Amino acid sequence: MSTDDARDTPGENEVYCRECGEIIRENAEICPECGVRQRSPSSGFDNDAGIAAVASLLIPGAGQIYLGHLGRGLLFLFGSFVAGLLSVFLVGIPFLLAIWVYGIYDAYHLAENPERAE
Ligand SMILES: [Zn+2]
Repeated sequence: MSTDDARDTPGENEVYCRECGEIIRENAEICPECGVRQRSPSSGFDNDAGIAAVASLLIPGAGQIYLGHLGRGLLFLFGSFVAGLLSVFLVGIPFLLAIWVYGIYDAYHLAENPERAE
């Protein structure tokens, strides 16, 4: 088991075990090889919610689009664009920040509760 024989790269639904590097199922909670618990698929930073939040941090609406809510994402993108234009006259800055922060919050919770978007 511990021999370094020809190890393939992980397949579509496979990942490396964080502990021993063995190729295991992506949604496996515990590595069958070393018994170390992997990150839980529904919590932790490295999941859809984290990715969506970071995406929204970089580009307003990107997190929503990443999650498949194109219209919602474009709304945030358009809203922040308008607020960005208004920021030229300074009055838009609070709006821009508000839309931006709310977009990050929204993307994060959208990932956690997808039914909220309906
Ligand atoms: Zn392992």
